[in-house]
Parts: sequence; C-alpha cells; structure tokens
Amino acid sequence: MKQPPYILLVNGTKVRRPVFVLGAPHSGVDLIARALGKAPGFHISSGHGSVQDAVYALARRPSMAEERASGTAALLRAAFAESWQLTPRTCPYCPGGPVPAREAAAPCRHAGEVSRFGDASPDLLYCATALQAAFEDAVFVQIIRDGRDVAAAMLGDEHALSWFRPALANLDHEMPNPFFGIEDEKDRAQYPRLSTAGKCALRWRGAVRLSARLRGSLGADRLMTLRYEDLFGGEVETAEQLREFTGARVSAVELVRSDSPGIGSWRNRLSAEQREDVRAVAGAELKRLGYAKPR
Ligand SMILES: [Zn+2]
Repeated sequence: MKQPPYILLVNGTKVRRPVFVLGAPHSGVDLIARALGKAPGFHISSGHGSVQDAVYALARRPSMAEERASGTAALLRAAFAESWQLTPRTCPYCPGGPVPAREAAAPCRHAGEVSRFGDASPDLLYCATALQAAFEDAVFVQIIRDGRDVAAAMLGDEHALSWFRPALANLDHEMPNPFFGIEDEKDRAQYPRLSTAGKCALRWRGAVRLSARLRGSLGADRLMTLRYEDLFGGEVETAEQLREFTGARVSAVELVRSDSPGIGSWRNRLSAEQREDVRAVAGAELKRLGYAKPR
C-alpha cells in the first residue's frame, strides 16, 4: 500500500495514520484512550490546552471550519504538534521534578520510542470533518452509548452542565449547532423551554447524529464504531478489533475496569419526569440505536 505523504513531524517522527477517538460526553472515550495509550510506541493525548482551545473554537463556530478550511487545518496541526511533543516537562512517562533549562525544550528520552500518535480530547467529535482535512490519513474510533445513561451521567457532571449556562450557550450566531444538538429553527425555539435533562439528551442526540453522518462518509478502513455496552465482557474482542483497525498493540487487560460501567443506571438516576424529557428529545435516536423498544 502506498504511504500517504506525512504532513507533520513530531519529536522527529513522521505522524502517520493518527487515531482520533470520538464520542458524546460520558460515552467511554477515556476508556478507549487509556487502552490505546498503553500500547507500545503509541502516544495519545487528551485535553491538552492548545487542542482543547481549537476544539471548542470549532465546536462553537462550526462554520469556521468550512469558511477557512486551510487555516483551520493549520490550526489543528499546530495544536496537535504541541500536544504530541514529548519533552521532560510535558512527557507523562518522565519522572517530573526540576529540569535544566537547556533540556526542557528538547525531546525527552521517550520521544524516540513513539511511532504513532492519537488524541481523545473531550468533544473532539465536533471537529471530525476538520480533522479529516488536516490529516488525510487519519483514522477514527467512535463510541456510542445509551443516551439515557449519558444524560444521567451528564446531570451529575458540573463541567458538562456548565455549557448550558446562558453566557456559553449563545445560540444566536450559529445554526445548526451540533454541539448543543440544535439542528433547525424548531430546535432553537424549543431550547429555552427544555429541562436540563432535555438539554443533555439534545447534546447526545446531536452527537449520535454526527456519528451517523461520519459513518455515512467514511469507509470501514477509516472509521470504527464501538458500542459502550459491548466493552464490558467483550474486552478481548474489542482489543482485537482495535489492534486490527489501528495497528496499535492494544491489550484486553487495559480495557478491564474495576468500577461499575453504569449500564442502565438511568433507571435509578433519572426521575420519571427526566426520563420523559429525554424520551421526548431523543426517543427516535434511542430506538434507531436499539436502546429503547418502539412503543
Ligand atoms: Zn519522557
């Protein structure tokens, strides 16, 4: 197979087939990232300041990616170049502590061991299209979870809820707005009347619709879709799929977790009213994805 030309050099290594992990909030992106990050020679970043700034700039202004495609690609590449750089100060494998100034900016001893790169920053999903333009050989792993459990988890997460504050949820200058799940005038008109559970469900609905569109536009060699609920008890199969798809030697052991995965926790965590609010917003998507029985 012909190697596409690399477009970024990090720590002296050509970035080829970077892996981006995508999903709605609380859908298990971190679990996949952790397992990928333990694979030999694989460095996966998450939530680096420069990347997160770029992600939110694009998430909140989706039109930016289209209007200034080349500028957006350059912005994303620069952000990842920074987050993938391994120096004694930024490297998660270095011991930390004081570093002599002349060594601080140079690649650390681990940098040469990294041959593959990836990122699993929160809300990376909203730049999936821009990422395809910035890295033409990029591959994507997306993970889907029951929207009722996602809404229940978001309701207990202050950071997730902070996006709904009026100052941040400025819906006037962007339409559609996949970050909030708003697709048309009807969604926008209804938005102020939605409960917080309904707003969480709308964000989930927007995310899974984006995932479905990605599925439609990328082939199986570029995009792999996992289901959160299949991960538990399916660690061996999932690790195998990840190995085959990414080329990273992912170990099933790294996918095993000791805490509860919270599958079906919405039954205890959502009130009857909240369940109804989630169903009203996301019922069709829950059915389409096989999470709720048609009624
Ligand atoms: Zn290091």
